Amino acid sequence: MTDERIIEEEEVVILIDEDGSEHEFYLIETIELDKAQYAILQPTEEDEEEETEVIILKIGEDEEGNEIFFEIEDDEEWEKVADAWEEAEREEEEIIKVDSEWQNVAPIVVTEEMSNQNCPFCHQSLKIGTKSIACPNCKTLHHEECWRENRGCTNSPCSS
Ligand SMILES: [Zn+2]
Ligand SMILES: [Zn+2]
Repeated sequence: MTDERIIEEEEVVILIDEDGSEHEFYLIETIELDKAQYAILQPTEEDEEEETEVIILKIGEDEEGNEIFFEIEDDEEWEKVADAWEEAEREEEEIIKVDSEWQNVAPIVVTEEMSNQNCPFCHQSLKIGTKSIACPNCKTLHHEECWRENRGCTNSPCSS
C-alpha cells in the first residue's frame, strides 16, 4: 500500500509586489521547459468584468534555497513558456471534447425492425421498447447502458 494522497484544493501562492502589498494566486500548473521550472498562476480574486489572465513566472531559489518566483525578463523565453502552456491547455480541451461527444447522443426506443440486431458490446439482443443508442457515425445500435459503459461506439473503426 502506498500512502497516496490526492490534493484537490489548489495551491495558493502569495506574491509580494514592489509596493509591499500581497497578492494571492492559485498555482494552476507548473511547466518544465529547457531544464527550468515555470509556474502558471491565476489571481484568486476574480474580476467579474475582465477575464482573469494567468501570469507566468519562473521558479528559482534564493541564496537560502527557498523556492521563489521571479518575472521572466527575456521576451523570447516568456513566449516559449506561454506557447507550451497554450498547447497543454488545448490538448486538455481536445480530451474533454472527445470525451463528451458520446454523451450527447440521444437514446431511441427499439422498434420491432431494430430488434433483430445484437448489441456489439454485450452481444445480447435489443428488446423492443427498451432504449438504445445508434452510433451517429456507423449507425450501429447499442443498449443504452452498454453505450455508456463503453463510453461510445464499440464497433471498430469508431472505437479506435
Ligand atoms: Zn449491450
Ligand atoms: Zn460507430
